[in-house]
Formats: sequence, structure tokens, C-alpha cells
Amino acid sequence: MAQPLRRSYIRLTSIRHLVGGGWVGTQLMFMKAHLIKIYCSKCNVHLYDYKKDKLGHLLKCYKDMIARDYTDGDLKCPQCGHQFARGAVIHNRPANKIIQGSVYCKG
Ligand SMILES: [Zn+2]
Repeated sequence: MAQPLRRSYIRLTSIRHLVGGGWVGTQLMFMKAHLIKIYCSKCNVHLYDYKKDKLGHLLKCYKDMIARDYTDGDLKCPQCGHQFARGAVIHNRPANKIIQGSVYCKG
């Protein structure tokens, strides 16, 4: 009687552990995310399509959340050459730190 109860308890906690972080957590974030478009504030050129999990001010772009990259990958606007971000690593993920005022986004 006690044996099967114990086994199912262990199975539940291991699933909860998996959902709490790592791969499953990332997948859930992708499902919640919606696509926003990021533009150069100097010349209005379309820079990125980005998967953002919540609305608000854009401070950083995780590189693995960029759906489409219209730049040359040098963090500069391909039209006016204005630098709009700096490379960084945030929470062990490569990211672009947005330079405030250099981009704007539309949902
Ligand atoms: Zn530009």
C-alpha cells in the first residue's frame, strides 16, 4: 500500500522540478510571448521582430528571442549607422542591451 503512493509522489515532484526552470520554462515563455517590431528611432528602419513575454519598456533583447534580424548583426542601424544596442550576457544568455532612446517598438 505504501509503496505505490511513494512512487507517485516522487513522479509529481520531478515533473514540478522540470516545469520550474530550464527547457520547459523556456518553452512556456515562448508560448506566452507575442511578436513586437523594433524600429530605429532616427530613421524608422525596421530592425528586429522580437518575441517579448510582457508589454513594457524594452531594455534588452535576448538573442534567442529575436524572431527576425533585419540588421547586419553589428547592433547598428543598417540605414543610418546609428548604434542602438551593446552586446551583453544577461542571466547567462547572450543579449543586446538597448541604448535608451535609439529604438522604439510597436506591438
Ligand atoms: Zn536608422
